[in-house]
Amino acid sequence: MSGSPADERLRLEREIRRLRHELQEAAGALPYLRQMVQFSGDLLNLAGPGGSILEANTRLAVVLGVPQHELYGQPLQHWLPNPGQVRVLQERLEALGEGEALRMELDLQPVAGEPLEVELEGQRLVAGPLAQPRWTLALRDISLRRRLESSEAARQVQTSLIASLRSSEARYRELVEQMADGVGQLDAGTSLLFANPALHRILAVPEGGLLGRRLLEFLPEQARASFEQSWGAVLAGRERRCALPVLAADGSRRQVELEMHPRRDGVEETVCGGVASLLLRDVTALNQALTDLTDLAFQDPLTGLANAEASRRELERRLRESAPRPWLVLWLDLDGFRRVNHSFGRAAGDALLVAVADGLRAWRAPGDQLARLGGDEFLLVRELPGTPDDPAALQAQAQEVVLQLRDTITQLDTSAVGAALGLGFSAGYSLAPLHGCRAEDLLQAAATALSCAREVAPGTTLIYQPTFTTRLQREMDLEARLHRAMGKGELRLVYQPQQDAAGRLIGAEALLRWNDPIHGAVPPARFVPLAERTGLIHPLGQWVLEQACRQLRSWLDVGLRPPRLAVNLSPRQFELTVPSLMEQVEELLQRHRLPPALLELEITESSILPMAGAIGQVQQLAAMGLQLALDDFGTGYSSLAVLNRLSIHRIKIDRSFIEHLETRESARTIVRTALAMGRGLGLETLAEGVETAGQLEVLELLGCDVYQGYWFSRPLELEAFTALLPRDAAAS
Ligand code: C2E
Ligand code: MG
Ligand code: MG
Repeated sequence: MSGSPADERLRLEREIRRLRHELQEAAGALPYLRQMVQFSGDLLNLAGPGGSILEANTRLAVVLGVPQHELYGQPLQHWLPNPGQVRVLQERLEALGEGEALRMELDLQPVAGEPLEVELEGQRLVAGPLAQPRWTLALRDISLRRRLESSEAARQVQTSLIASLRSSEARYRELVEQMADGVGQLDAGTSLLFANPALHRILAVPEGGLLGRRLLEFLPEQARASFEQSWGAVLAGRERRCALPVLAADGSRRQVELEMHPRRDGVEETVCGGVASLLLRDVTALNQALTDLTDLAFQDPLTGLANAEASRRELERRLRESAPRPWLVLWLDLDGFRRVNHSFGRAAGDALLVAVADGLRAWRAPGDQLARLGGDEFLLVRELPGTPDDPAALQAQAQEVVLQLRDTITQLDTSAVGAALGLGFSAGYSLAPLHGCRAEDLLQAAATALSCAREVAPGTTLIYQPTFTTRLQREMDLEARLHRAMGKGELRLVYQPQQDAAGRLIGAEALLRWNDPIHGAVPPARFVPLAERTGLIHPLGQWVLEQACRQLRSWLDVGLRPPRLAVNLSPRQFELTVPSLMEQVEELLQRHRLPPALLELEITESSILPMAGAIGQVQQLAAMGLQLALDDFGTGYSSLAVLNRLSIHRIKIDRSFIEHLETRESARTIVRTALAMGRGLGLETLAEGVETAGQLEVLELLGCDVYQGYWFSRPLELEAFTALLPRDAAAS
């Protein structure tokens, strides 16, 4: 609703006054505003169409390197090197509405110098409808901020790098601290700049105590020169490894392996500052273990003496170092040791071996080499005085040594075994250079001599003879042949009848025969001892027992009535074997369905008495109903008590007494006594080897029960003997 014309005029006059006032005020403020624009920190300009500069402040001119007045009329794009940015800028300025603001970042290239990064803030000016469009553009230099921002990123990277470095350093530190090997850093004077706990431990220094101390302090005098040589190489940039002894602070001496690495350019250098890093490994225990192992490999664990391999090496070394000197190589073997083992048990056997080793050790002369070669065999190596070209003198010296040895061994205290034993040995020896100059040859020669000595008799010592070698080779050849003979039908049994005075067939002895395709008939006296030495007696004895039982069964099966059949047993068959002798016999009797009384076992007293458990086995065999005969009676040391305990059925008086019955009174006395003794004990008596009517006459007179010998019959082949057997009346 409009008022009166007077009111209208009043309102207009008031309005004009206000506008005038405003105008005056604005005109007064303009120089200040202009000044503010000129000195603003921002680069300001007023742009018209096409971006041409209508106004610009001093700062913009300074920054662009152009006099201020020259800026007017120039398009701003002139200093914008990036055409893409120019296009975007123009489009957006055109599109900008009144009162709207535009923000963007631009690259600005002054006339000279580095380009700047600027932030542009633009506004369209409010103008009348006919006026040309104008924009105020404020440019702010943000290069510094950008640089700061990028250095911030770098800082972040650095921080995270440091963090990860810290964590990896922590990991490495933990590793280094827990390492069993010593780790350290050395300066040029070998002083420690860093040392891990292990290094402190190895050098026996409380933790932290190593810093500043020199590694050289811990090296014994004799190790320093070699360390310093290595150290020189490290200083020259090379890695070095060496094994050294170190003297720990507690006075203990340790063996270490040292690894030294020269400083490499890089982080490590700046962090640690040392010239070399050090790795020190304590190998004392390892070396000890290695030494122990070596000792084990070269030492006999039971006696502590050297073993065969060690003695061979040692002999080799000595021969090499003293080439022309004479040496004695003596190989000895205890007699009857196997029986000790069997009679008293293995522990006693071991105790005896230790006692022998101790005895030898106490006896040996300085420079003597002693060894246990396994089992009950020992070796002595001694350098002999004198010249090597007098074999007779050397042999005399060797024999003197053997005599001393024999004294030592026989006088040994064997109480460790639990019994007083008369110990003896057989031995063979060789002499250097007479029998060779190489350890192997001398040992082989001594072993060969020993083998031959064992065959002669217990207690024999022989010096090596070249002929021994061929003899031994023959033995080995024979052994191999006997081994094969069992499977090739070259063995057989013959049967020698045993009769009473009236000529009745009472029994028979089965005797083993071997017909070798090359050697022909080999007598049992030759191959049985061989089989006993080599252990071949076990399968051989089993073969004989099997054969005898099978034969008994065959005779029974064809309706014949065989007498009891005697089989010879070797003492070694009482050794603890699987199956045992007992089990073998039991199985055979069962399998061949034989009454036990048909089988007789011949044993020899002297050979079974010292054998542990043999007497018990004999008693068990008797209890099974088998017949037992004591073979070769009179040749051993018969004891009434033992005869009783053995529960045997008959004694076989040895052929050697029968042979001289007619000519020697002594033989007659022995036979008379033996027969009386047998009778007294209720045993049957049998005379072996009766060859003449005269012998038989004497024996009959003295009251012998049964006879065996050529006078009655030689051992017979199977058919001939079978022909003697009566038919079984019940069977027919
Ligand atoms: P031995 O057990 O004393 O056997 C008796 C030996 O005397 C046999 O010798 C036999 O042929 C022989 N002989 C018998 N009558 C006379 C005679 O009137 N005059 C003479 N001069 N000799 C006679 P052989 O068969 O040579 O056996 C010798 C030894 O071999 C046996 O002595 C025995 O110890 C052993 N032997 C034989 N066969 C075996 C066997 O199968 N096993 C075992 N372990 N040893 C056996
Ligand atoms: Mg016999
Ligand atoms: Mg006999």
